[in-house]
Amino acid sequence: MRRKLAAGNWKMNGLKADLAEVAALTAAHPAPGTDILLCPPATLIAPMVAAAQGSALAVGGQDCHAAAAGAHTGDVSAPMLADAGATHVILGHSERRQDHDEHNEHVRAKANAALAAGLVCVICVGESEAERDAANTLDIIGGQLSGSIPDGVTGHSLVVAYEPIWAIGTGRTPTLDQIGEVHDFIRMRLERRFGPGIGRSTRLLYGGSVKPANAAEIFAVSNVDGALVGGASLKASDFSAIITAL
Ligand code: 13P
Repeated sequence: MRRKLAAGNWKMNGLKADLAEVAALTAAHPAPGTDILLCPPATLIAPMVAAAQGSALAVGGQDCHAAAAGAHTGDVSAPMLADAGATHVILGHSERRQDHDEHNEHVRAKANAALAAGLVCVICVGESEAERDAANTLDIIGGQLSGSIPDGVTGHSLVVAYEPIWAIGTGRTPTLDQIGEVHDFIRMRLERRFGPGIGRSTRLLYGGSVKPANAAEIFAVSNVDGALVGGASLKASDFSAIITAL
């Protein structure tokens, strides 16, 4: 009953010339049974929306400010993302938590702003290698879930992405059992807090070194409803192979 979602995070990559990848992607998946999302840098949101016109590809931001507008030089607000044609926004990615000292309460405030602007929040959680080695993974994820996800979500306005920090861009992935353990835990926590409706309809993505070669086995894990893909979403051929594996 949950539709699969293949989401790409271009991070700080992409110039106008790279929109050719979008054309190739939409040509390869003209009417997919899968939901496809690409989150380019803010400069490319509007042109990517234009390039994706008429296709099933949705476009999202990678962050937003907690305020709707104001004196915040360099920041982008949720209404601005929506105005540019974005329908989703990634929030609380570990690179933002690390590079910009974002904590759970910041992520929650941003998520509230995104919900108010009508955006779907893709909220990221994940442990560091030291936290996993210390057997603290579920404690960390539990704290991130309760701290980062606001009360006002619905099953359609929330997506949770589990991204172990040590698996991002490293070519290393958790075992399938480890992915399943965390996804089952996230599902249980969502059901306990929000009830079975929201708890069961929220999609859970795995992220961290997802490639065409490992996508199918990861997607077969219980409670994995898709992927949040970094490097392999930059090339239409790789991302398309991952979409096909869903
Ligand atoms: P990679 O797929 O490059 O490991 O990145 C994952 C990620 O951080 C997606 O948000």
